[in-house]
Amino acid sequence: MKIYNSLTKQVEEFKPNEEGKVAMYTCGPTVYHFAHIGNLRSYIMEDVLEKTFRYAGYDVKRVMNITDVGHLSSDADTGEDKMLKGAKRENKTVMEVAKFYTDAFFSDCAKLNIKTPDVVEPATNCIDEFIHMIEVLLEKGYAYKAGENVYFDTSKLKEYYVFGNQNEEELMVGVRDDVSEDENKRNKNDFVLWFTKSKFEDQALKWDSPWGVGYPGWHIECSCISMKHLGEYMDVHCGGIDNMFPHHTNEIAQTESYTGHKWCNYWFHVHHLVEKKDGGKASKMSKSSGEFLTVSLLEEKGYDPIVYRMFCLQSHYRKPLTFSYEALDQADGTYKKLKKRISAVNAEGEVAAETVKEWHDKFVAEVGNDMNTSMGITLVYDVLKADMNGATKLAVIEDYDKVLCLNLVGGQSENTDNAGDELTEYVESMIAKRAEAKKAKDFATADAIREELLGKGIVIKDTREGTTWERA
Ligand code: AMP
Ligand code: ZN
Repeated sequence: MKIYNSLTKQVEEFKPNEEGKVAMYTCGPTVYHFAHIGNLRSYIMEDVLEKTFRYAGYDVKRVMNITDVGHLSSDADTGEDKMLKGAKRENKTVMEVAKFYTDAFFSDCAKLNIKTPDVVEPATNCIDEFIHMIEVLLEKGYAYKAGENVYFDTSKLKEYYVFGNQNEEELMVGVRDDVSEDENKRNKNDFVLWFTKSKFEDQALKWDSPWGVGYPGWHIECSCISMKHLGEYMDVHCGGIDNMFPHHTNEIAQTESYTGHKWCNYWFHVHHLVEKKDGGKASKMSKSSGEFLTVSLLEEKGYDPIVYRMFCLQSHYRKPLTFSYEALDQADGTYKKLKKRISAVNAEGEVAAETVKEWHDKFVAEVGNDMNTSMGITLVYDVLKADMNGATKLAVIEDYDKVLCLNLVGGQSENTDNAGDELTEYVESMIAKRAEAKKAKDFATADAIREELLGKGIVIKDTREGTTWERA
């Protein structure tokens, strides 16, 4: 396999530290609000990366954190505490907010057929590990105490800008007019490892530490959580492109200072989902900008979430992807036609195992070439046109769907345990919406809901006792 490595800015042959195994880490969500579909673009592409490794025969261990403490609204240690902001908005405790949005995140992931990583660790589980790492950094002279906080000293490094491409604009990330720079920092890019002097009087989550009661900085959590589960050497670290600086740059700084050696060999960054607002310049979709698009919103508008996965797979992860409903409608049309063509394949004949293997290898070569996911979809069309019997075609497509996960054959989805419950919940919510629409004499919406359910193989019937449903 080949992947583009942000460290070397080249597509490289993938060579893991340990033959046949991949140690993979993903920066998880900050759980103060719903994930928007931009965040989910990153998680979809990272899911495809993990599944492609597995498809190519690697034994993968993938770890992800949940940021439930310490992430201020600016990446540069300034601004509000995101979790506190969510708690205030919803009149809940920080832990209630974290639990609610963690569950919401995994429910969105299930709808998009994103597999849950092997290990998922909330930052609040690992406070002792953070404290230990900070103590070592202080002992080694890479950190200092100032103004009752602990900071990482970036001037101690031979090379801080390991990704090399930070320009002034990027360095200004998060520096806004309403926040003042932290005067305790010795160097502009120094960052907080542990806060005891919180500027938030009502800071909800605090822990005892050798430096006083406080809470960790954001970057330390990924360094610690990854080493806790994957050890000091890692193969691939992923995140959205905005994580490259300062987050990943700081993760590398503190981890390699702590271990004294190189940490992770390949850095995989997914470019942004962008929106064009009022016909103007395309800008990154973000949670802080108020209105943002969620999976639930797409569902309310009648889209099958898998269509959004298809939309993402049609374009390359290293290019910005512009979202519009027109573009999503196109993906929807393409998806429905593709599903129809596949369902028209007659499963006749015997599966030719050798042919399946041949096409399997073709997929690894094409998609495994820096995640060429659109080529993966093209290969499905190639299979449909190829000279092989129906049973073999379906077997190859089913095999490809282990990576694409577009429910191409049948209707299986990732979390099969609760897939039945989820379906019931979904159908019932759609029936309730339809009843409301009918009450409001909005028959167009009511009919659209019926059609949508029909498209998913659900037939609804209006009876005197109410609306019932069954699988077609
Ligand atoms: P957050 O919950 O803000 O920590 O973000 C979760 C993940 O989504 C991170 O890997 C971000 O880099 C990524 N991300 C944020 N905005 C976008 C976007 N517009 N498009 C793609 N990925 C994004
Ligand atoms: Zn991270």
